[in-house]
Amino acid sequence: VIEIRDLHKSYGELEVLKGVDLVAPRGHVVALIGSSGSGKSTLLRCANLLEESQRGEIFFEGEPIQWRGEGAGRHPADRAQVTRIRTNLSMVFQQFNLWAHMTILENVMEAPVTVLKRDRAEVEERARHYLDKVGIGDKADAWPAQLSGGQQQRAAIARALCMEPRALLFDEPTSALDPELEQEVVKVIKDLATEGRTMIIVTHDMRLAADVADHVIFLHLGKIEEEGPPEAVFGNPQTERLRQFLSATA
Ligand code: ATP
Ligand code: MG
Repeated sequence: VIEIRDLHKSYGELEVLKGVDLVAPRGHVVALIGSSGSGKSTLLRCANLLEESQRGEIFFEGEPIQWRGEGAGRHPADRAQVTRIRTNLSMVFQQFNLWAHMTILENVMEAPVTVLKRDRAEVEERARHYLDKVGIGDKADAWPAQLSGGQQQRAAIARALCMEPRALLFDEPTSALDPELEQEVVKVIKDLATEGRTMIIVTHDMRLAADVADHVIFLHLGKIEEEGPPEAVFGNPQTERLRQFLSATA
């Protein structure tokens, strides 16, 4: 679904991604791990074109992103393509970012109705289906502030699902949650993995990465230091840096 080749990204003088490759085939789960500041969020945001990158290629379902200009002046050339990619790669953030002035149901329905221009009744049916699926069907008419953190994050996941995206991108979906609420969200993510959803998950939770990922990427200072199946990355790390990182997070 997503393929990234030799991606470079700088903020001014600061080079944050120094030639990163990432492939997320259909039905696969890729986990991105690494220290704070290693570039995980940046990579995710570049993948769905929330951020621009200066060099390297990004493919969505085999279709290359069209660029105009070069280096620091590079921008996506085709707005329709950007919209298509953003709506097909739904993001779930650490802070759930629900709209406080809308009910949970309205939050979930908003983008499919306004961005995708789908029929309201059809979207409502789908929204209720996804709210049931993440276990908060009874909260459809509640306001975000009336939900626990775990419930709000599950609402954010239902909202991402309601776009019927080709892939879900998670940026530390459980980091803002208390441990007991975290497990509710982990369970939802595990169910999605079992269903064969394509996902890229940035996480500090090594258990989650080990449980759901087909492929784990360890980023260090903007480069892939080590990658492989979870059994190898967690069971038999090859580099000193990864060994240190894993012992620090254990
Ligand atoms: P964390 O685990 O703390 O979320 P991360 O791996 O997601 O870290 P990024 O957020 O991708 O790291 O940041 C990578 C580097 O880029 C950091 O040095 C950060 O300070 C810098 N950076 C991120 N966003 C910006 C920005 N908008 N402007 C300037 N520098 C930025
Ligand atoms: Mg981050």
